[in-house]
Amino acid sequence: MNYYVLTLFPQMIEEGMNTSITGRAIEKELIHLTAIDIRDYSTNKHKKVDDYPYGGGAGMVMQAEPVYGAYKAVLEQVKKKPRVIYLTPQGATFHQTMAEEFAQEENLVFLCGHYEGIDERVLEEIVTDHVSIGDYVLTGGELPAMVMMDTISRLIPGVLNNDISAETESFHDNLLEYPQYSRPEIWNGKKVPEVLMSGHHKNIETWRREQSIFRTLERRPDLIEKASLTSKEKKLIQT
Ligand code: SAM
Repeated sequence: MNYYVLTLFPQMIEEGMNTSITGRAIEKELIHLTAIDIRDYSTNKHKKVDDYPYGGGAGMVMQAEPVYGAYKAVLEQVKKKPRVIYLTPQGATFHQTMAEEFAQEENLVFLCGHYEGIDERVLEEIVTDHVSIGDYVLTGGELPAMVMMDTISRLIPGVLNNDISAETESFHDNLLEYPQYSRPEIWNGKKVPEVLMSGHHKNIETWRREQSIFRTLERRPDLIEKASLTSKEKKLIQT
């Protein structure tokens, strides 16, 4: 997977991504990260990349030309036109299924806005997907881009030590994950559920599945309606 991030703050992206699991994935060349400084494509002698909005109003707007220049630099490095994701609070809300779909791509371009956003004309020209990470407004698209890259990277074979863990995790099949426990067996007077100590794999699997279902029902009833449950499981949650 090749990530290209168009940003005014490449250092933020590089430092954030070169840490922990994504950092190791970059080292192992399972993912390749190129942070492109939009400022390098400014035609202004002071390297200015923003200007006042036409029509007035608060704040500054990122200009079209430097963004377009940064995008064209990516085109020189890829064989076919890549998907370009503009991080914006006005986009479709990011979710796990979307991450699974993006993980199939060979190249992904993330366009990070700042200030009041980016001149609409360049967005019309290059953006294929408008994505938001939630209904709130951040100062820039860098954190949202990293949220997306982190989520997508976990789905790339070899990035997690144990690839099975992504398959049993929350949102897979519209269920939340079951509760997890580790040593010691008793902590603060609380004991690990007996079944997990039994070594009986079938019983553990059944317990975990039920816990997943009950937890989803309690915390995310909107999801449970979309989960594929057996008729026995459907009866279980009706009682
Ligand atoms: N004026 C814009 C609006 O009202 O829609 C908000 C601009 S915001 C201050 C600056 C940049 O942060 C955006 O261009 C976008 O790249 C990023 N951003 C802010 N909130 C975001 C969110 N919830 N999801 C994704 N990107 C976001």
